[in-house]
Amino acid sequence: MRSERTSHGLIVRAPAKVNLFLEVMGKRPDGYHDLNTLMVAVSLFDTLEFKEDSDSTIRLDLVPATEEPGDEDRPLLSPGPENLVWRAADLLRRHVGLSDGCRIRLTKRIPLAAGLAGGSSDAAATLLGLNRLWRLDLGTSELMTLAAELGSDVAFFLGSESAWCTGRGEIVTPLQPTTPLWLVLVCPPMGLSTARVFQALKTPEQPVDGSGLRQALLDGDIQAIGRGLFNRLQSTAEELCPALAELRRRLAILGGVGQLMSGSGTTWFVLCRNPDEAHRAARNLDQLTRENLVSRVHVVRSCF
Ligand code: ATP
Repeated sequence: MRSERTSHGLIVRAPAKVNLFLEVMGKRPDGYHDLNTLMVAVSLFDTLEFKEDSDSTIRLDLVPATEEPGDEDRPLLSPGPENLVWRAADLLRRHVGLSDGCRIRLTKRIPLAAGLAGGSSDAAATLLGLNRLWRLDLGTSELMTLAAELGSDVAFFLGSESAWCTGRGEIVTPLQPTTPLWLVLVCPPMGLSTARVFQALKTPEQPVDGSGLRQALLDGDIQAIGRGLFNRLQSTAEELCPALAELRRRLAILGGVGQLMSGSGTTWFVLCRNPDEAHRAARNLDQLTRENLVSRVHVVRSCF
């Protein structure tokens, strides 16, 4: 994630992520789960614009209205202290003992509660953007510590376009794949709360090993990546939201090298061999949109 100077302040583009692999290794005494997950940032972006302000208030403007047609079953986003952007700005300010305010304009394109970690990415963008706007000069490891306080996925977005993440997800080992991936993101009209999915989950006795998928990504072997796609949370999400099982069955005939639900859902992705295949698959989703199984479709590329 990079920030760009403008005549008024700074702009940061915050990408969505998908999980190509997600296994739950066990439940921890603090109530969180230990994960092994492979995350990839993709080219669906929220945009954050940061400006200095003369008073000490953090002002967040949301653009456009977060309700989009077909998204009526998703939670609404607040511009106040519940918003991860607001919380990241306030945490950073308190961490360095600063009382400056700022204006932040957030253009939201990543759907909420969709397993795409839009909120975490926005929080990471805020740490990076304000670190520069306020000339704080904090290093990556200090920002990583703040990121982990804000949420398990936030640290990933600070430095990587793809990474193997462990712990709650906050221990990030960046990967260096060489071949870009093309995906179709298929977003149903409803969201799922991450906490709800983890509460309903039964921890596996024999965790699946993700090292094969990790190697396939480094080798750029698209067929092997397709075979290695795995998400432990998928069956639990389908039990909580049966429309997701129907979506899985309908996506299976769409082509591509594989399909998977991202994170705790509800977005599915179809992994494709090239952009043409991805655009063809996206066009074949019209019927699912008419049946209201799908509300948004995005053809995206990995950010590497
Ligand atoms: P994950 O894959 O990390 O579980 P998700 O994609 O399912 O995340 P998000 O959309 O990132 O979920 O956020 C989940 C919840 O966080 C939202 O329902 C919303 O209430 C809250 N939230 C707070 N700030 C934001 C933000 N800036 N963008 C999105 N959600 C936010």
